[in-house]
Amino acid sequence: MRVASIIINRPTKQLHKPLSYVLPDRFGNIMPGTRVLVPLGGSREEGILVGYEELSEKPDFTLRSIIQVLDSEPWFTTEMMDTARRISQYYLCSYGDALRLFTVHKTLKSYDAPREEWLVVKPEFNLEQVPLKRKKQRELCAYLLQVGGAPKSLLRAKGYSYMVIKQVSDEPGIQIEKRFKDTTTTFIELLSGEENIPLTDAQSAVYEPIKNAMDDEIFQPFLLHGVTGSGKTQIYIKAAARCIGKGKTAIILVPEIVLTDQIVRRFVDTFGDEVVVFHSKLTVGQRNNNWERIRRKDSHIIIGARSAVFGPAEDIGLIVVDEEHDTSYKQEDMIRYHARNVALWRGEAHRCAVILGSATPAIVSYYKAQCGEYKLLELPHRIHEQPLPQVQIVDMKEEMLRGNYSVFSDAMMDLISSTLSSGNQMIMLLNRRGYSTFVLCRDCGETIMCPHCAVAMVYHQAGEELRCHYCEHHEPIPTVCPTCHSKRIRFFGSGTQKVEEELHRYFKDARIARLDQDVTRYKDAAEAILRDFGDHKYDILLGTQMVSKGHDFKDVTAVGILTADSVLNIPLYSASERAFNLLTQTSGRAGRGDKEGRVVIQTYNPLNYAIIRSKTHDYLGFYTEEIGNREALGYPPFKDMIYMVVRHPKLDILETTANHIVDDLKIHFQGEDIEILGPYENGIKKIRDMYRLSIMIRGSNVTTIKKYIYNSWIFTQEGLLIDVDPI
Ligand code: ADP
Ligand code: ZN
Ligand code: ZN
Repeated sequence: MRVASIIINRPTKQLHKPLSYVLPDRFGNIMPGTRVLVPLGGSREEGILVGYEELSEKPDFTLRSIIQVLDSEPWFTTEMMDTARRISQYYLCSYGDALRLFTVHKTLKSYDAPREEWLVVKPEFNLEQVPLKRKKQRELCAYLLQVGGAPKSLLRAKGYSYMVIKQVSDEPGIQIEKRFKDTTTTFIELLSGEENIPLTDAQSAVYEPIKNAMDDEIFQPFLLHGVTGSGKTQIYIKAAARCIGKGKTAIILVPEIVLTDQIVRRFVDTFGDEVVVFHSKLTVGQRNNNWERIRRKDSHIIIGARSAVFGPAEDIGLIVVDEEHDTSYKQEDMIRYHARNVALWRGEAHRCAVILGSATPAIVSYYKAQCGEYKLLELPHRIHEQPLPQVQIVDMKEEMLRGNYSVFSDAMMDLISSTLSSGNQMIMLLNRRGYSTFVLCRDCGETIMCPHCAVAMVYHQAGEELRCHYCEHHEPIPTVCPTCHSKRIRFFGSGTQKVEEELHRYFKDARIARLDQDVTRYKDAAEAILRDFGDHKYDILLGTQMVSKGHDFKDVTAVGILTADSVLNIPLYSASERAFNLLTQTSGRAGRGDKEGRVVIQTYNPLNYAIIRSKTHDYLGFYTEEIGNREALGYPPFKDMIYMVVRHPKLDILETTANHIVDDLKIHFQGEDIEILGPYENGIKKIRDMYRLSIMIRGSNVTTIKKYIYNSWIFTQEGLLIDVDPI
């Protein structure tokens, strides 16, 4: 007998496998991907029908029946279901959770996407039918003729009165249509025509194979390695134009949207209504609207951060991952997927070109290009031939020997003052927010810790309080030490707030903007700061790595990096790669206009290869050294890793569970080329009152152990985090 396989649409690890139900004849044939209502225990649950199965004999338990069919057409395409299954098996998450990535809500509910009324011109309309004396009405009709149609709200914004709009809408040949709202930033009247700019010879050489892959409808990943300003975005635009010309959908992924507003702008300016923008700050209504526009093929280009890779396109013709090395493509909570992998899987399923673009490709990506898995395309020169900035490295140990204990070296002071006096702008990077980095009692030496996490509290000037950077806990600054009651409490280390204060002290007239998570908590604050900095309302932009990417500012001639070491010293195999990228990207902010740029990097490790190679913008040199180290030490891409964190509020239970997991895995994979390390304490012992122990699995092939974990008791352990391919 035939049964339907149903995934219960609820986030629980216990229900991660499909359940079997009978599909009563009265429902006819239901396509996989459709949502249904099923009985489960004593209640009814929403489920997704993912397929059918033929049972050879009657099962020894009573099968229950589907109660209701919820969709008239399937919500998920076959490709979405296949990709979700691939995600769930690769990243070790439940199938239901992976399917939910393709939806707008956590639970699927039918909804009415917001619509608005448009005035649309039909072919039979003739301007001469509007009397000449009705000047406003004629003007509005002429405008509508030019653009074809426009939403009422826009016409109101343009100054047409309610009456005029009403009268025009009553004209024969003008119709009111309810359309899904256009949620791109503004309505576009004049398109930039950027897709028609002729390519340079170097760009044509790169574009040719991409075009061929699109025309031949074959899956082909490309690694487009090109310095910033070499014309990569122009290639994306050209390829997207060809893709939508074929009636297919293009997905363009960018790192955090706020900081990459420029590329979004260029797409919107070029393609207008064809573009929908996806990002985390959209309301549910806006998201529904955008989703629906893509599903109905009102728009054919999705541009957005990580989650845009799940856009509901049925016929994808191109996927672009811009700045493919960016760590924001990896989701670091819940399902720890990497959007680049999902992009490649979807590209494979849709047989299309996937362009991974970067000035500093991920080590793993460049290695795959070397092995021929990706086709390597290079744009080594800038279009406008600006020279790359001059980089100076300052050894902070020497500064201290000379008696300079300030956060600024002499070279940095010099760079700041010369930039200010020449009327140019500067970007300054410090990877620590807050005022001080820790608070310590001078007498007993106790550091003030968060009561819920095993980390030091950070002093924040706003609100004069101590905050934990791992949970929401905050408290007033204690006047006496909680341990020994001494009054000699001191702040140590410098965060962005302290450096801002120091800058004000040394450079009284400088206009300084600070950009870090404390500021960007407020809606649109980051956009406003970046816009004002772009308009030269500030002289110095000081911030965490948020300042390292995105925007081109033509007056920025100087970049200062206060401590290159803060990234180098993180305990991850990828620390050097992260440092090289951060330094190279941040340095690249200097001298983007026609002025030459200067960079000062302060460090306690001036001989580190990531620092030395970034000084000369030498990606290949860095890659060669780094890939050698990875091979010698058995790190990706040579070995795969699975990182697990077991969490529990009780330390003894935690230890028992963690040991049990390790023992189980060791028994099953004894004698195989698989290392199982742990359980061990990694960094922070406790976060939000949950103790943590880590387990690391490493091997040249981890497919079998993944399969084992997926089907074992380990998978359903509460509090277990699994991070496949940690970066
Ligand atoms: P990237 O994405 O690699 O940083 P862009 O595509 O933004 O490079 O190109 C850098 C600059 O050169 C931009 O101002 C862009 O408008 C311009 N540009 C790119 N391609 C061309 C071209 N074929 N002809 C003229 N200008 C171009
Ligand atoms: Zn004390
Ligand atoms: Zn905390």
